[in-house]
Amino acid sequence: MKPLETLIRPNVRRLKPYSSARDEYKGATASVFLDANENPYNDPVNRYPDPLQTVLKERLAPVKHVHPEQIFLGNGSDEAIDLLFRAFCEPRTDNVVAIDPTYGMYRVCADVNDVEYRSVLLDDNFRFRADDLLAAADERTKLIFLCSPNNPTGNDLERKEVYTLLDRFDGLVVVDEAYIDFSDLPSLATELDQRPNLIVLQTFSKAWGCAAIRLGMAFASPDIIAVMNKIKYPYNVNRLTQEHALEMLQRHTDVLQWINRLKEERSRLSEALARLSCVEHVYPTDANFILVRVTDAPAIYAYLVERGIIVRSRHTVALCGNCLRITVGTREENEAVLTALRDSGF
Ligand SMILES: *Cc1c(COP(=O)(O)O)cnc(C)c1O
Repeated sequence: MKPLETLIRPNVRRLKPYSSARDEYKGATASVFLDANENPYNDPVNRYPDPLQTVLKERLAPVKHVHPEQIFLGNGSDEAIDLLFRAFCEPRTDNVVAIDPTYGMYRVCADVNDVEYRSVLLDDNFRFRADDLLAAADERTKLIFLCSPNNPTGNDLERKEVYTLLDRFDGLVVVDEAYIDFSDLPSLATELDQRPNLIVLQTFSKAWGCAAIRLGMAFASPDIIAVMNKIKYPYNVNRLTQEHALEMLQRHTDVLQWINRLKEERSRLSEALARLSCVEHVYPTDANFILVRVTDAPAIYAYLVERGIIVRSRHTVALCGNCLRITVGTREENEAVLTALRDSGF
């Protein structure tokens, strides 16, 4: 890996970050806070939240088997993705490489930041080869984006290829693990100590059932985390979100039960979908959704909408012609989509 100093954008490297009132006061216990122009009434939401989410990171670290200094928390993983562009990619000069198809936010953030986005098609089984991504990269490639399990294809990326890429790419490799809790593979986050160019993204939006609170996680070396913290908004994770996340960590066993139930439903739904006349192929999945190739995706999508059932059409996405992406729901929700498709006449 190139020295981190040379990967960071020069303006970010030079930047003196905003210092908030709560940054400047640290240490000594205090009871009178007249430093941040807050209203003394309406406790507790009158006070600015902890800008570095110290307590939450301390509780999260053992759950994720990382150190608190290896954690960045943001307003969804989307904030982490955007910050990585802003921290490392010089607009109109640097570029990033990503697999295709994959999660659409990487390209949107590249476009917003005016950074060239190079996509490399997966094979027909949605696998990637490290060599192909390395061939698309050059000396101006700062980030390579992987997503495992991948959205919208659902499959885990092959670990051997991920390790090859981490070994051979001299920039940063981002592995988006939004769906890792539904996979049989362990998270790569536990390998951060041996992998200085690895950045792992996770989220509270999927397995943790907290899409509404907007809480995303990035795990990386303390040096990379420090760069992200340097340029983030000072109070990027609000107090209500931090509190709710702490409550969810207390309910970890409930979350594990949801995951198990969803994995059972995923098998049931996959098998039932495969028996439908309108379904041509059910792709194997390691996530909480199933990609299915149907006879006529636009028509079947429209039919389901009419029945009040919303799935995601991926018909226009590379390699996903006539594909629908169906999230695994409750038993009743899954039965509803199966019944509708059975009755459809497609
Ligand atoms: C859903 C999803 C996310 C979650 O994004 P948040 O901003 O944390 O809600 C991240 N990455 C992928 C690939 C996703 O599918």
